Amino acid sequence: MECVFCKIINKELPAYIIYEDENTMAFLDINPVSKGHLLVVPKRHYSKLSEMPIEELEKFFKGLQNVIKIVENKLSNHYNIVVNQGEKAGQVINHLHFHIIPRYGYEQIFIWNTHKLTEDEAKEVLKKLGKI
Ligand code: 5GP
Ligand code: ZN
Repeated sequence: MECVFCKIINKELPAYIIYEDENTMAFLDINPVSKGHLLVVPKRHYSKLSEMPIEELEKFFKGLQNVIKIVENKLSNHYNIVVNQGEKAGQVINHLHFHIIPRYGYEQIFIWNTHKLTEDEAKEVLKKLGKI
């Protein structure tokens, strides 16, 4: 088994585990972008959210919500939840994981390179989605 997160889940690799139930585990990210940066993972290996059966997703989300409550109570009420899906979106580890990034100030963590949506662009996207 190659997957680093599966190894952490199976306790073959060490991690600072802060939450565990039957379906979900949360541990500290080894390269935190803020204090308390966590990764929440389903114990069963899936690469993408779209691959998870809905029943498993429900159980996983229960764990995720428990972790979020711990974060809110003990770390900060302000946090980002980030899920990178696919290499081009920054997914390096192929085991689905939710980043929970507690925020304490207005730290610059994400740079959103935005532009004003044009009518042409909107129509192009809607066309691709089969909406027009
Ligand atoms: P991704 O870019 O795939 O969304 O995020 C993967 C995350 O996993 C990164 O933030 C990285 O720091 C973290 N990571 C990679 N390897 C390990 C590891 O062995 N242990 C822990 N705790 N985190 C890891
Ligand atoms: Zn895995």
